[in-house]
Amino acid sequence: MSLEWIGFVGTGLVVVAYLPQVIHLVRARCASGVSLRAYLVWCASAALLLTYAISTADAVFIALQAYQFMALSAIYLLAFRHRGRSCDLHCRSEPAPSDLVVAALGVGTGDADPRRLAGNPS
Ligand SMILES: [Zn+2]
Repeated sequence: MSLEWIGFVGTGLVVVAYLPQVIHLVRARCASGVSLRAYLVWCASAALLLTYAISTADAVFIALQAYQFMALSAIYLLAFRHRGRSCDLHCRSEPAPSDLVVAALGVGTGDADPRRLAGNPS
């Protein structure tokens, strides 16, 4: 009995796993937390593994590595395009120094985040 279907199910899970990152990059234009260097290395790795997968003629391995290469390349290119940008959610997850001062003094709401006021798109 062939266990190839298990490989395709695993590949499907990989497809689903990348979607939240891609969707966030496209919708929010936010590259917060995406390491360009790491994704560049992963793209190179996926390209090499795809080359090897093609040489083995294994359908699951080829499908997995082809998708990995496409997803990683898309994430790298989108993150490069939107590098330095953060959405409101990610801006708020790392309190700005001014927010810490406001919180320490117990005044205001911290809405005057200088990163957002400086035109940080979100
Ligand atoms: Zn974000």
